[in-house]
Amino acid sequence: MRDLAGLWSEPRHVVAICGGAVSGAEAAAACARRGIVTIVFEQNTRPYGKIEDGLPRWHDKLRSQEYARIDECLSHPNVLFVPRTVIGRDLPIAELGPDTGIAALLLANGAWRDRPLPVPGVDAYVGRGLAYQNPLVHWFNHYEDRGRDGQPSYDGPRYELLDGAIVVGGGLASVDVIKILHVELYRAALRARGIDVPVVEIEHQGIPKTLAAHGLSAEELGIAGATLYYRRRVRDMPVAFPKDDSPEQLAKTEGVREKLVQVLAQKFLVRVAECRIPLAPIVEGERLLGLRFRKSELQNGKLVEIPGSDHDVRAPLVISSIGSVPEPLDGIGRKGELYDFADMKTGQVRGLSHVFGLGNVLTGQGNIKDSRENAREISGHLIADYLGVGVGPRDGAGVLDSAHVQAAGRGEQAAGGAQQRPKAAPAQLRELCERVRARWSAVGYEGDYRAWLLANPPS
Ligand SMILES: Cc1cc2nc3c(=O)[nH]c(=O)nc-3n(C[C@H](O)[C@H](O)[C@H](O)COP(=O)(O)OP(=O)(O)OC[C@H]3O[C@@H](n4cnc5c(N)ncnc54)[C@H](O)[C@@H]3O)c2cc1C
Repeated sequence: MRDLAGLWSEPRHVVAICGGAVSGAEAAAACARRGIVTIVFEQNTRPYGKIEDGLPRWHDKLRSQEYARIDECLSHPNVLFVPRTVIGRDLPIAELGPDTGIAALLLANGAWRDRPLPVPGVDAYVGRGLAYQNPLVHWFNHYEDRGRDGQPSYDGPRYELLDGAIVVGGGLASVDVIKILHVELYRAALRARGIDVPVVEIEHQGIPKTLAAHGLSAEELGIAGATLYYRRRVRDMPVAFPKDDSPEQLAKTEGVREKLVQVLAQKFLVRVAECRIPLAPIVEGERLLGLRFRKSELQNGKLVEIPGSDHDVRAPLVISSIGSVPEPLDGIGRKGELYDFADMKTGQVRGLSHVFGLGNVLTGQGNIKDSRENAREISGHLIADYLGVGVGPRDGAGVLDSAHVQAAGRGEQAAGGAQQRPKAAPAQLRELCERVRARWSAVGYEGDYRAWLLANPPS
């Protein structure tokens, strides 16, 4: 097991991070490069979060690129990666406070709880006609995994993707969900004809081209297909965002949204029903068999429901994909769906001056770029203004990028102004390192990040 004695030879700042994916890894690298001992607790075996379990697996190039970036961040010698450890369950938040020598705790645990579908009583049918996005995409990404022995290794919940399913949503994730449905339906239909086409190939080529390559057409396969139901207009879908508030930008973005839906229809044979608000479950026996919708329209910029427009949509499967929020964490207050932040700019949690949120936790939703930029901003503030770490000799971890230069610049000012948080004394550091090593033993980790990933590679 890795010897940590070198870490307690002199006082050092210590930061703990909950979650090792895009935002956690980025913050960890920023801290580690400033000489801060950074302990990253990750609930899973691997740290990739939504990159491995959220992005559908056809994003093969993006995934490899992001895996490599996270790996580089987490292999820094000042980072102590602690896998298979759930903060709030295996380790309470209260044990990660300043009295233990940990100056700050960063919450980079993402948004893994599906926002509940606002249809009274519908949640009683989860697994019986209703599915939620997060576990469904996790299943899609892993259900064909094989272990090192070549045997199937997936043991989570399973889904049967039925023809005629509907998806309720409207954001980018819901677009991926309906694509998953069609890729899987057509793949199964091809397989039934003895033709095996990989997921990535179907997504990259699109369904009509894939079928044509095998001398088939969509009509011949007789698949009815899935529909995405969105409460507003197609041109309002949050799948693209204007760069500013100008009418030109808005018009341009609306055009991009409409184009995206056209591409969905042409390349993936998906239908989108706009201006439909889900109202009530349709139930037969023990199963959900669709939803009642009411039509809506925009009047003077406001969404209004149209009286008398209720209609039933029968479907063998309803998938809810209306957004994800952070899981509750014992000891962290909530405000609505998010944690209760005292300051959105620094990510500081109300009532816990040493705890900060970042990435999806703070932004509520977002993408890889936003998560990474947010992590840089929050860690830049933390290092310079909260810990008061100024510009000093660096540890040779490479050239400063612009965010780190900014953070370092603020550090120079901070050296004069901000409060310098106390460093952990060698005895505290030693105790923390011993706790880390005890946890490593418990989860079977030897302290070598690269070796761990070689032994536990992603699929
Ligand atoms: C279907 C889908 C498609 C998407 N497609 C794109 C796309 O094409 N492009 C794009 O840019 N973005 C996309 N995104 C969004 C993007 O994946 C996320 O915004 C980004 O990866 C979030 O990074 P994060 O580090 O903030 O959070 P996460 O990736 O969620 O990381 C959180 C980490 O914390 C860990 N964790 C959680 N709770 C605990 C705990 N209690 N203790 C210890 N560890 C914990 C998790 O295991 C995870 O590793 C998509 C998202 C979804 C769901």
